[in-house]
Amino acid sequence: MKISGFEATTLAIPEDDPLANMPEEDGRMRPVVILRLRTDDGIEGIGITFYAGAMTGSLRVAVEELAALTIGEDPLRVERIAAKLMAGTGDSCGPGGIFTLAQSAIDIALWDIKGKALGQPLWKLLGGHRDRVPTYASGALRRGLSDDQAQTAARRLLDKGFTQMKTQMALPGNPSIRDEVRRVACIREAIGPDIQLMCDINQRWRPEQAIDIGRRVEEVGLFWLEDVTRADDYQGLARVTAALSTPIAGGEYLWGIEPFRQMIEAQSVDIPMIDIVRAGGVTPWMKIAGMAEAFNLPVVSHVMPEILVHLIAACPNGLTVEYMPWMLKLYEETPTIENGEMILPTTPGLGLKFDEAAIAAFTV
Ligand SMILES: [Mg+2]
Repeated sequence: MKISGFEATTLAIPEDDPLANMPEEDGRMRPVVILRLRTDDGIEGIGITFYAGAMTGSLRVAVEELAALTIGEDPLRVERIAAKLMAGTGDSCGPGGIFTLAQSAIDIALWDIKGKALGQPLWKLLGGHRDRVPTYASGALRRGLSDDQAQTAARRLLDKGFTQMKTQMALPGNPSIRDEVRRVACIREAIGPDIQLMCDINQRWRPEQAIDIGRRVEEVGLFWLEDVTRADDYQGLARVTAALSTPIAGGEYLWGIEPFRQMIEAQSVDIPMIDIVRAGGVTPWMKIAGMAEAFNLPVVSHVMPEILVHLIAACPNGLTVEYMPWMLKLYEETPTIENGEMILPTTPGLGLKFDEAAIAAFTV
């Protein structure tokens, strides 16, 4: 089996809120590049990448240029292809930035091909630890909502059967510490004591602020506090992690494998969060999860639950899947949720098929 062709397409997907129907801002679009990688025996693997914003056109070209290097290669040899992509760009274009974003789409498509060629779902190929995994609602309880809106949205998530959900602090404007604490307390009040509540700061606090506010919200009982300060301030993160009993999560902003070594060695976080697009695809994502396992740390995923559910289910230290619904509308069907858990598909590869009408509608 050899790779024989590819097609990359730029999409603009509406940024709505299908989980709680409480969008912060109507009409915003998210640019994404999708890849179809084809083999000479008729298999098509799908890949996806994003985070390039105004450079998404460049990202699509980068995907095409790297995909061209895979023509004639055996798609099962993912490491050989990764080395070829790096060598093909002079061994110095990555890791990081457009190179890694483009590489991710290819690596994801290669694993989809591998699953389809072997007739196995991806989560089984990667280890198959579990066939259902916890998931949490994400993207609905954002910092721009009022307290009332946040409480209404939280109740809608409960009605949908979620048993874990994430909100945000570092509220807009110049909020007082009291406002920050009140926000998570009011969501806790809406959902009751038994629902697991995470809270994302998106790198917006200083370490000292994180320790101060973090201590004041310990009694709210957060499942984790996420990205409390700059992702590359490993020592600052470590101070926060040491000071709080609430677990600290982070890692979605790191590129490739090596920064996770720094983060884990510095004891910066209790829960590494691994983004598949910034990691470079399925292959490096699983290596980072294995590195965390060696340090007795759980791992969590970042966005794209329809793909990341495979990886969290595959590894023994996968904690929960972020159910961020950004891309769900691209596919005919995505994994279902039952009693707060995602059910792993039994179809080969990613188990995803593009909804061609949706793709046509979003193509730019
Ligand atoms: Mg986050």
